[in-house]
This record gives sequence, C-alpha cells and structure tokens, in this order.
Amino acid sequence: RAKGDGRSCFRFFEPEMDVRMQLRRGLETDLRQALAAAEFELFYQPILDVGSRAVTSFEALLRWRHPERGLMPPDRFIPLAEETGLIVPIGEWVLRAACAEAMRWPAHLHVAVNLSPTQFASRGLLEAITGALAASGLAPHRLELEITETVMLKDSEATLSTLHRLKAIGVRIAMDDFGTGYSSLSYLQRFPFDKVKIDRSFIRNLGQTRESGAIVGAVVDLCAGLGKGATAEGVETPEQLEELAAKGCREVQGFLFSRPCPAAEVAGLLDRLRSWAGQTVTG
Ligand code: C2E
Ligand code: MG
Ligand code: MG
Ligand code: MG
Repeated sequence: RAKGDGRSCFRFFEPEMDVRMQLRRGLETDLRQALAAAEFELFYQPILDVGSRAVTSFEALLRWRHPERGLMPPDRFIPLAEETGLIVPIGEWVLRAACAEAMRWPAHLHVAVNLSPTQFASRGLLEAITGALAASGLAPHRLELEITETVMLKDSEATLSTLHRLKAIGVRIAMDDFGTGYSSLSYLQRFPFDKVKIDRSFIRNLGQTRESGAIVGAVVDLCAGLGKGATAEGVETPEQLEELAAKGCREVQGFLFSRPCPAAEVAGLLDRLRSWAGQTVTG
C-alpha cells in the first residue's frame, strides 16, 4: 500500500512543483511592483500595560493588498521578500509609514516595527531609520525595533555594533519571538535589548500546563533581573492574562484586546480600550 501511494505521489509531484514555481515567479513579479503600486498597508495591534491596562504602544504589521489575491498576511510574502532582497526597500517604506502614522497618536504612545534579518544586516539600515525619524519628526524614543534571535546568529560582532549604533540614535530595541529560535541566555546579557517579547507558543498553554507557566515565569523573572521589560505575545484569554499578571509580566499583546487593525481604526480602538480599563479599575 505504501509503495502504491508513493508512486502516485511521485506522478503528481512534478506538475505540482511546476505550478508552485509558476505561482512563486508570478508572486515575485507582483512583489517587485507592489511598492510602486502602493499595495502595502500597515495594520496596528495594541500592546498594553498589565498594571494600568493602558495602551503603551502599537506594533505595525505589514499587509499586502494584492489586486487578485486579496489581503495577504506577511507570512505569505516576507520569506520571498527576504530571498529577493526586496525586503530592504519594503522595510524602508514600513519604517517611514509607521513613524508618520505614530505622529498622529497621543505623544506617550510608541510604535514597534519589525526588522527582518536581511534588513538588519543591510548597509542602509541606520540611514533608513534616521531618515524615517527625520521625515516624520517622531522622537526616537517612540520608535521600537523588533528583531528576532536569527539576527544574532549571523555575525555577533557586527550585530553588536549595529545594536549599539541604534541605541545611540535613541530608539528602543526588543527581542521578538523569544524562545523559538536558537535562544541563548547569553544573548540577553550580551546584546543591549530594552525588552523581550515572549513568543505566543509559550502563552498558548498558560493555565493549562505547569511547564508553560514555569517557562513564562522564569523568563519574566530573568528579564526583571536583567532590567529588561517583558511582553507576552498572543494573549487570547482572560485566564492567560491573569496568570501573566500573577507572574509579574508587565506588558501584553493579543486578540484578547484587539486584532491588528487598519490605521484609521486606531483612534476608535483607543477609546474602546480606555473604557475597558476604566471598568476594570472601578469594579
Ligand atoms: P510577530 O512580529 O511576532 O507579530 C505578531 C504576530 O502574531 C502577528 O501576525 C499578529 O497578528 C499575531 N498575533 C497577535 N496576537 C495574536 C493572538 O492573540 N493570537 C494569535 N494566534 N496570533 C496573534 P502577522 O501580522 O501575521 O505577522 C506575522 C509575522 O510577520 C510577524 O510576527 C513578523 O515576524 C512578520 N512581520 C509583520 N510585519 C512585518 C514587517 O513590516 N517587516 C518584517 N520584516 N516582518 C514583519
Ligand atoms: Mg513583532
Ligand atoms: Mg513576535
Ligand atoms: Mg512571530
């Protein structure tokens, strides 16, 4: 039986590969034109302070409004953008758009922007960031850059010097998706991060398995000991929020509060979340 299945798989394998190659090539052509065609959009997801339940920042999350394929999430095109190097100009657009948008918000709010490994290692990174800050007039401390552990693997000397130069500009730096890559605790000590975002895979089972509670608690304590903030990603239930609060996690982000939403909805979202915070404080 297994043999027969294998053979029929093989028969359909090649044409399928072909279709996938064509789709990929089509996508690549489209991706090259997407910036000029203004098809990218940023959605924003709030990050809240656990103690006050006030919004502290918004993370900018890239979407591609493809003319035929509809609204595409980043997982469907960022890998291709990375491979082709297109992530560099796309990432520059993201920085400019996010900084400009943040200028329309109350001044205590920060904006978080994701940087890909290729973009992080690119020559023009510092200029892209100072350029976006200058063009928008955004104060550097209001911009937070999220980078993943993969960035650290490449060349730690170069990474370290880039991080220090970013810190000198005055922007904040967060380690994204902490715990999913080849995390090494020494990274936390060696690199000048302001905060750590605990990956949602650890949050998912909070309150259900003792292990995830132990890991999240340990990461929160470790961050506190190192003088860094900790943000929990992917908070979906009140039970998860409760356990995070009990463990001393300071910031939370997730569908429990809001899904990422278009820029035009940010003001309404702030109103809704403000009244929610008020309610919980008074009773
Ligand atoms: P990320 O930076 O870890 O962003 C968080 C992702 O988790 C977002 O997915 C967000 O929609 C999702 N999320 C937030 N709360 C919840 C929750 O409660 N439950 C669940 N299941 N998911 C939640 P999204 O927007 O699809 O982005 C995926 C990834 O794409 C991001 O992960 C980031 O690595 C990358 N990305 C997004 N925008 C950009 C960008 O402008 N540049 C680069 N280089 N990467 C980006
Ligand atoms: Mg992120
Ligand atoms: Mg993340
Ligand atoms: Mg992620």
